[in-house]
Amino acid sequence: MCSLKKALLFCKSCGAEYDACEARFRCDCGEPLDLKYDGAGIDTSSRVQSKRFAAFFPFAEDDWVSLGEGGTPLVSVERFAKELGLSGVQFKNESANPTWSFKDRGTAACIAHARALGYTKVGTVSSGNMAASVAAYAAAAGMEAFILVKGNVADEKLAPIAIYGAHLLRVAGPYDELYKESLRLGAERGIYYMNSDVPFRAAGSRTIAFEIAEERGFDVPDWVIVPTSAGGNIRGIINGFEDLLRAGLIAKLPRFICAQAKNNSPIVTAFENGWTQIRRAPDAETIAHAIDNPFPPSGNRVVAELRRLNGTAVSVPEGEIVRAQADMAHAGLFAQPASCVPLGALRAARASGIVKEGESAVLVTTGGGLKYTTAFAAHKLEWRDCAIGDLAELLK
Ligand SMILES: [Zn+2]
Repeated sequence: MCSLKKALLFCKSCGAEYDACEARFRCDCGEPLDLKYDGAGIDTSSRVQSKRFAAFFPFAEDDWVSLGEGGTPLVSVERFAKELGLSGVQFKNESANPTWSFKDRGTAACIAHARALGYTKVGTVSSGNMAASVAAYAAAAGMEAFILVKGNVADEKLAPIAIYGAHLLRVAGPYDELYKESLRLGAERGIYYMNSDVPFRAAGSRTIAFEIAEERGFDVPDWVIVPTSAGGNIRGIINGFEDLLRAGLIAKLPRFICAQAKNNSPIVTAFENGWTQIRRAPDAETIAHAIDNPFPPSGNRVVAELRRLNGTAVSVPEGEIVRAQADMAHAGLFAQPASCVPLGALRAARASGIVKEGESAVLVTTGGGLKYTTAFAAHKLEWRDCAIGDLAELLK
């Protein structure tokens, strides 16, 4: 049983194609798969992804379960444009999604795919954002969810996942092994594991590109900067702009910057050294916890995409991530540290001359600042206690 319209999953690395009605999460060659589906047309009557961009997905209307994902604001910040000598700096604020991160776009698409294939159980392997997103959408869809989180996830991060009622397992061991084991066991036990870079998660991320283009009147920015962990989001955003180019809606592609924390930057290292295969990074701690991934499953593909499209990869040291988080908050945007890495990357790319004077950039702000309270300790936060009687003196 499969209610999908005719669609293929294809491998950009080896050219293999598979029917999208197959529950397939990676290519036989080991590389990730992308959705191949020729849709066109935007339903402007809705801001919600599952309605507005329904034509770009092979789902029947009944397959979608929506919590209102998508339609997030694109915020211009003049002070950063001025600081860097750019014509514009904009933030695509994905914390305005139903579970406060970009993950809801891919989760909605994966849930629709799972339902189209007749699954009743879903799961994910996550360090936080994706776990909450899958738990929420599974709850909304009435599906059972099996969420696997990394062994080093703090207790305080589990409550926002557990509240949705999912089965929650904190698993000791390397993230990438957990990723592979979940797909293997999922196939055996009938659980649809919608992990970070599976085809429909990347397909959902395309709508970030669609919205950036729409909100700018289809005038693409010079640069799009994406904080990168597994690599599924930046792959999806690239595919989204390529879909728009093929549909004749935009005249050119932007250039892409893959932004990583210096303490854990396997894609940047591979890109800078001219490697085609990423190598496992030493798993050093970073405040950018949400993109802490020493061996990203889409790493090879992202490196190839950046080379193909004349993009680049930039890593950002811890101090610059904290500085970016404070500076963005001072502009009214409170993002989790991983989502502040793009501003650090833009500053570095501007200083090195990769990004030129007068160019424009859109930075993808993947999740909200309340997602990672541990980061608060990195900032100088000041307040004072006083009595009502002191106010006449203090409010001057
Ligand atoms: Zn392949």
